[in-house]
Amino acid sequence: MANIIEMTTKRVRAEDKRIINNKAVDVNQLVPIKYTWAWQYYLDACANHWMPQEVSMQRDIEQWKSPNGFTDDERRVITRNLGFFSTADTLVANNLVLVIYKYITAPECRQYLLRQSFEEAIHTHAYQYIPQSLGMDESELFNMYREIPSIHAKDEFEARLTVDLLRPDFETESFRGRQQLLDNLIGYTVIMEGLFFYTAFVMLLSFGRQNRLPGACEQIQYILRDESMHLNFGLELINALIQENPDIWTPECQAGIIEKVRHGVELEAKYGEDCLPNGLLGLTHDMLREYVQHIADRRLERIGLPKQYGSGNPFPWMSEMIDLGKEKNFFETRVTEYQTGGTLSWD
Ligand code: FE
Repeated sequence: MANIIEMTTKRVRAEDKRIINNKAVDVNQLVPIKYTWAWQYYLDACANHWMPQEVSMQRDIEQWKSPNGFTDDERRVITRNLGFFSTADTLVANNLVLVIYKYITAPECRQYLLRQSFEEAIHTHAYQYIPQSLGMDESELFNMYREIPSIHAKDEFEARLTVDLLRPDFETESFRGRQQLLDNLIGYTVIMEGLFFYTAFVMLLSFGRQNRLPGACEQIQYILRDESMHLNFGLELINALIQENPDIWTPECQAGIIEKVRHGVELEAKYGEDCLPNGLLGLTHDMLREYVQHIADRRLERIGLPKQYGSGNPFPWMSEMIDLGKEKNFFETRVTEYQTGGTLSWD
């Protein structure tokens, strides 16, 4: 019987590694590292480790249970965004593990994808921990992607990108297959994590800025920090894929990507109208539309495509939210020490 692992004295050379379709070497050797940026993302992501249950929800519970704590409009925007998120990270995780991991053949990129997959699980955990702590109707939240049209439309758009690549005849050797993988990466990185997530972060973090729902918002802040790394890693991956496969980056392909991003902006603007029919906390759905257009331009420029809107940023405070370190966040909660090998207890 032929070996699965080829026995050879021919060693892996960094220059032979490829983002996809790694033919020269197998996918098991992290070193020699070629994509040093991917390894750095992995190290940085591990340094940001956190868990939802470390964050106290006590003040959130008092505020949420108080009859005058929140208006109906405020409760609507909070529930809807938690509902969107409760299944969004699962969609991302499934696509990551079932599609992207399979076809990305650089081991140092896979190393980060494994870390990212765990982070998506932690985020889903947070979106279960927050509603459970507040005594919300969890099944209402976890079913919103099937019951609320503005959430369904976004998730349907994303889920379609996954299903196409789960077909048994899908491969990344052909021109068409490589373009489809690129489409999938952009659909999830730029549109899902890069647009849909960010406007939802704005709505939820607006409460945290007023010291309302501080525990939930501290978790959202950690999630935002993780997601900004998922976005930046994904953009690097997309650019590296295009660089190694310049033939797929045709004018038609670029036009198709711009079209999809514009469609994503429309879906998000509609979602904003649905969440914020009347406006609150200085937020209106027009501002959300402006914001999603602003960040869409920035994401497009990062992959070498022309900006489409020229809109301003109505929420400059969002960049501070991303940059804050764990030890010094604006809620001044405690810093958690992690167990290391020397302090693990086994009983
Ligand atoms: Fe993510």
